Amino acid sequence: MKRVAVLTSGGDAPGMNAAIRAVVRTGIEKGWEMLGVRRGYAGLLDADIRPFGARDVGGILGRGGTILGSARCPEFEDEAYRKRAVANLETLGIGAVVVIGGNGSQAGAHALFQMGFPVVGIASTIDNDLGWTEMTIGVDTALDIALESIDRLRTTASSHRRAFLVEVMGRDCGYLALMAGIAGGAEAIVIPERELTHEEIAHAIRAAHLRGKTHGLVVVAEGAKNSALHLFEHFQKHKDEVGFDVRMTTLGHVQRGGAPGAFDRLLATRFGAAAAEALERGERGVMVGLSKGKIQTAPLAEIVGRQKPLDLSLLDLAKVLAK
Ligand code: ADP
Repeated sequence: MKRVAVLTSGGDAPGMNAAIRAVVRTGIEKGWEMLGVRRGYAGLLDADIRPFGARDVGGILGRGGTILGSARCPEFEDEAYRKRAVANLETLGIGAVVVIGGNGSQAGAHALFQMGFPVVGIASTIDNDLGWTEMTIGVDTALDIALESIDRLRTTASSHRRAFLVEVMGRDCGYLALMAGIAGGAEAIVIPERELTHEEIAHAIRAAHLRGKTHGLVVVAEGAKNSALHLFEHFQKHKDEVGFDVRMTTLGHVQRGGAPGAFDRLLATRFGAAAAEALERGERGVMVGLSKGKIQTAPLAEIVGRQKPLDLSLLDLAKVLAK
């Protein structure tokens, strides 16, 4: 009987549990013995692996986070440690691993595959920065949470005639900030892919003030050089530049937590099943993702290390709409 292990790695994302459930139950349906690895690659190094039956993944479809736990494991970048992981997997008779995670985790999956171990990846990160795939598990829910917060901030901003600087997550990728900024009707959006100067941001807020708007909203990506805190400190000292009284809010990890929405549950379920199908077809060293609107696989070698570029024309659209 084939033995297949599943793990979640890197930053957790809403929907990872739905993907675990789908991989495990689809694998069981194929007659395989399924196992869960705790704490990502760290669990491979410690052989923290246990059998996973259909009931072990019951009641998790709508739960945020990951029941397997996740971890960052820098040792895994070292081949000597990866050899230990392969030895542990072979001792347990495991023939393949499914890796659910983002850019770094898929780089780890590729490194494992290059050592001759069968691996299939599943695209999951709230940053949506993985190459090739149009969507990753967790993005849609994270965006909804960011948007709900922005909507709430706008109502209080309006009541007090304030401008809010809202920092959203995304490391060095501005996807969440750009999409939340557009969907939230921001006056300005600051992302690492296209930085704005203090003057440009001040101009956008002041223009809103002069047009008679009762609030100003600036969405700032976590990775922007002109950070939300930096901008806040500047505008505290130079209130005359913006017209509004300025406040700052960092959404932080609130965006990661919570129950996955319908889109992420469905995407994760379909990605999970597709990973088992890919393994059955004999595909190795590939990642499951969404391309041209279809769930497909592509070689990890073509994905790893290639961050997906943002559609910067959306920034121009946001500027036009901020009237
Ligand atoms: P994410 O998957 O969310 O992008 P990280 O970038 O933190 O998260 O990566 C998660 C883990 O993947 C790392 O802690 C490490 O164990 C592993 N990893 C990342 N890059 C590599 C690499 N180049 N080679 C091997 N393993 C890697």
